[in-house]
This record gives sequence, C-alpha cells and structure tokens, in this order.
Amino acid sequence: MEQNQRIEQFRQMAEADPDNELGHFSFGKALLEAERFADAVAPLARAIELRPAMSKAYQLLGQAYDGSGNREQAVEMLTKGALVADEQGDVMPRETMARILGEWGAEVPVFKSAEASGSGGSAEGSASAEGFRCSRCGRPDGQLAKPPFKGELGTKVFDHVCNGCWQEWIPMGTKVINELSLVLSTPEGAQSYDQYMLEFLQLEEC
Ligand SMILES: [Zn+2]
Repeated sequence: MEQNQRIEQFRQMAEADPDNELGHFSFGKALLEAERFADAVAPLARAIELRPAMSKAYQLLGQAYDGSGNREQAVEMLTKGALVADEQGDVMPRETMARILGEWGAEVPVFKSAEASGSGGSAEGSASAEGFRCSRCGRPDGQLAKPPFKGELGTKVFDHVCNGCWQEWIPMGTKVINELSLVLSTPEGAQSYDQYMLEFLQLEEC
C-alpha cells in the first residue's frame, strides 16, 4: 500500500476512535517512517497518554523528537521509555533505547533487571528457566490455556500474551477490520490485520 494512503487510513482511524491508542500509535509510526518527524510527535504522545506502559511508543516518540531537531526532549523521552520498558520486561525496546542513548553520549539509566541479576547468590541462579511474561502488560501470569489460533502467529501469541490482553484485542480486532474496511480473505487484508495484532499486543520484537 502506498505510504500516503496508509497515513491517511491511520489518521482516519485515530480520529474515528480517539481513545484507541492503536490508531494514534500506527498513525505516528507511519508518519515517522515517512520522515515527517514533527508531525509524528502529537499522535505518538497521545498513544503514550492513553497507554503509559507502551514502551515502543516512547522509542518512536524519541526518534520523532530527534528527527525534528529536538535532541534534548528525545533524550528525556528515551530515558523515560527505557525505564518503562525495563519495568515491563520489554527487553528489545529497552536495549534499543539504551543503545541510542549511548550513541548520543547521553546517560543510560540503571535498570532494575540489571541490579537483580547483578546481586547474585540467589537460590534461583541464572539456571532458572525464562518464565512467562506478557509482552503487552508485563504480567508474569495469566497465560492462555492454548494458542488462540493455528500457525506461527498463534504460537507467538500463546508464548507472549496473557489472557486479559488477548481478550482486549478481540473487540479491537473487529474495530480494525471495520474502520479500515479490511477484507481478511485477501492477502493484503490478512497481512494488515496481523500487523495490527502484533502492534497492539507489542509482539513485533518478540
Ligand atoms: Zn497482558
């Protein structure tokens, strides 16, 4: 799909459903990809306002600030975002934000998880298996009983998303189909739908 067409779709989605963080996030992300940095700031800030735990949105907002020549606010946003990601157990966004801060010569925050693993001597040790943690809300419990649908993506959802977040996605998925007039029987429609699911459930970097 053409970039401008996508931007326009997401703009409509954000406008039609102003309290839905997914519309604002996707709108801001599309603007960022089009290097419309200054335009991307407001929708990404709105996504964070609606869902302060959305660590990836801080990363994108930091990049939008930086791209529009505002390094100071970019550093502030990435610092905040890295700490949110740390709190949520979102390893990839945390590492990305820490790396960018390092590249900019900014101070990289001290992470809880680093403190925990650095303390040593716990009975669990480093041998403990990596437990379940929801990629969206960060909860360590509430895993689904089984993959919600077949295929690779279904397994990914099962491995990384809690039941509560999955239940939130179902009506959101219906909204996405209606607002973007997706036809799931076409490859483009199915691909867009999956992309929204990945973004909403914060599965992109799992
Ligand atoms: Zn969850």
